[in-house]
Amino acid sequence: MPGDEAPLAAYLVGLLQRAGLEAALVETPRGASRVGRAAAWGMLRGTGERPPLVLLSHLDTVPVDAERWHEDPFAGIERDGYVIGRGAQDAKGVAVIQLLALLELARREQPLARDVIFLATPDEESGGRNGAGWLVREHRSLLRGARFLLTEGGGVLHRPRGAPTWQVAVTEKSPCWLRITAKGPPGHSSVPSGADAVPRLLDALAAFRQLKDDVRVVPSVQRMFATLAPASPAADRRAFADLRRSLARDPAFRQRFLAQPAYAALVRDTTSLTVLEGGARTNVLPAEAAAHVDARLLPGSTCSDFATRVRQRVRAPGVAVETLLSFRSAASPIDSPLYRAVASVAQRRDPAAVVVPRVNAGFTDAHWFREIGIEAYGFVPRWHELGESRGVHGPNERISIENLERGIETLVEIVEELDRQDTT
Ligand SMILES: [Zn+2]
Repeated sequence: MPGDEAPLAAYLVGLLQRAGLEAALVETPRGASRVGRAAAWGMLRGTGERPPLVLLSHLDTVPVDAERWHEDPFAGIERDGYVIGRGAQDAKGVAVIQLLALLELARREQPLARDVIFLATPDEESGGRNGAGWLVREHRSLLRGARFLLTEGGGVLHRPRGAPTWQVAVTEKSPCWLRITAKGPPGHSSVPSGADAVPRLLDALAAFRQLKDDVRVVPSVQRMFATLAPASPAADRRAFADLRRSLARDPAFRQRFLAQPAYAALVRDTTSLTVLEGGARTNVLPAEAAAHVDARLLPGSTCSDFATRVRQRVRAPGVAVETLLSFRSAASPIDSPLYRAVASVAQRRDPAAVVVPRVNAGFTDAHWFREIGIEAYGFVPRWHELGESRGVHGPNERISIENLERGIETLVEIVEELDRQDTT
């Protein structure tokens, strides 16, 4: 739930301190929450020859729908080789892998060439402004001039046929959240005015829904599919190799591709209507009605341009559009020591593995760090069968213990490999 991350943050700080690492509890703004909020920070010192690496996770989760869980979502039950509970994947499981990898690295005799910083923040699921965003703004010194960062957003996709793909997120679509409001005279609904808030809102939404978004293949998406092509089913191999051309010239492929929502979201600015606010009583005309739009924009589209288009579309008396949240998306390079370190460990563990620079349709806290020039990648070494990540944000979230163990080992290898790749 949003809020109350402080006890967990304090627990993690305790584990780090008992292992002899520098660590601190950092109190963060409460925002709308009434309970304590905090981040856990820790650091394994290296020789300081190279710039630090940050291992970032978040401690908040989305709420649970307890009816649909087979177990208590907050008991951390272990059964049949799995840990079951809210956050097992997103993202307490990430914090566990990163923390245990750090403790493992602390046992080395030779120090690493860089400091490795552990950072587990609150508020990610609500947009991170009171978590990672606030820490980057108010406590930048905690990052010690870091150049690199690893966080959630990518992992290893194990496919029944074909090579496993190591998906390293290099950029994300950017959110543009809008609120469309319609005002009208309040009063008794037995005497409607003809200019009431709810019908005005419905007209605005009908106009909004006429907005059509073109298919557009941005360079990072073109590259992602070209990288995926050799390891893809034969039917898609040629089309993926040049996605832009295939979508333009091959109607059958275009139809098949766009029919998959996860693919369609990578070649379009998407718009979802989510929240509706209106009256609370059947016989009362509300003075205001509103709807929230969650738009996700491809690199190159800006929220202000998008909001302007929406405003033009819904223009009518009493109707207004405001921006609730927006940020630009930045990309991290694939020609980077950290990206190469992940690729090199992938080849070593599985010579057939394909490493894919991924564009994510959703967003994580990575953008706060990309915005200040840190090379941030969405990659945590976890192995997912197709469909296994279903529990994320849903009921019965779980992660296998084998996955946790292999994740810790692999992350240790990646951090060690980074020292070999980053020598200039
Ligand atoms: Zn998450």
